[in-house]
Amino acid sequence: MKAALLHRYDELLSELEWLVYEDVPAPAIEGENDVIVRIGGAGVCRTDLDIIKGLWHKYFNLNLPHILGHENAGWVEEAGNKVKSIEVGDPVIIHPRAFNGLCEACKRMRTPQAGDTLFPGMSSNGGFAEFMKANERSLVRLPASLAPMDAAPLADAGLTAYNAAKRASRHLLPGEYIVIIGAGGLGHISIQVLQALTAAEIIVTDISDMALNLAKEAGAHYTVKAGENDIEEVLTLTGGHGARAVIDFVADQNTVKKGLAMTRRAGFYYIVGSGGKLEISTNDMIMSEKTIEGVFVGTYAELFELIALADRGLIRVTTQEYPLSNANDALRDLHNGKIAGRAVLIP
Ligand code: ZN
Repeated sequence: MKAALLHRYDELLSELEWLVYEDVPAPAIEGENDVIVRIGGAGVCRTDLDIIKGLWHKYFNLNLPHILGHENAGWVEEAGNKVKSIEVGDPVIIHPRAFNGLCEACKRMRTPQAGDTLFPGMSSNGGFAEFMKANERSLVRLPASLAPMDAAPLADAGLTAYNAAKRASRHLLPGEYIVIIGAGGLGHISIQVLQALTAAEIIVTDISDMALNLAKEAGAHYTVKAGENDIEEVLTLTGGHGARAVIDFVADQNTVKKGLAMTRRAGFYYIVGSGGKLEISTNDMIMSEKTIEGVFVGTYAELFELIALADRGLIRVTTQEYPLSNANDALRDLHNGKIAGRAVLIP
């Protein structure tokens, strides 16, 4: 089969081509619950750039050459002899964790924290390929309304955005405010989830006008250009208090301080992006009674919930399609801030 492979890390992302499009052996059924999925679309994530930089090496013990792609959907090509819940030809979306259902975290439905399991695209080969091996437990059958190439970003960008927005929605009463920092692949989906689950006022900040336009289309009530005055603008919009909840999809060195400053007293600050460092005094923590939470992907049940929302037409992912052979173009466009929504590779 054809696949796009990472052969070596590029710490500064200075090379012209990061992945090599080449022929490799297709994956084969080994376990009774294995499923081979013919990939219809694979989303391109900022984490892929971080993997290319070598940043995830120590977390996933990655072996090169490696096939990236942790955001995948397609059709069942072949199934192990114990597979009962899906059939060859079914359109499916693949939960990013290949969990086995046996560990304590799985049994408590905390899928993202599942123990000894694979993370296709990170710890094992992923979906930047014609075929990928998955486990029956990690598949959700797609409704007729969702084509795999359009649904693929729901597997990670969508699921993580849904998890964060669902957590925030539990605290948001009508008339209260939420700030979304970053209106990219995850941010523009979270706005639609909040529209579906709450009646809160949605403020979105981003450095890119293209992203702010996408935010408005997705249902943001207010947009604030990220920059020197963004904290002040958010405070003005929220009557001087800040927002009840802030979801930080960027969470690098530039946004963490701002995100906390935009969170009102007794508010909730959700960290989804990476690269930053939190610094808050314990005195500030007790006086402000703020809650800070990290968000990592979502559970199998939450993927099911998200697909239900999308099936009702409440979530639309904005995608830019690239042939798999042009994976480097998609990665470069993402790196250069040129993607509106999510880039999807089509084999
Ligand atoms: Zn991702």
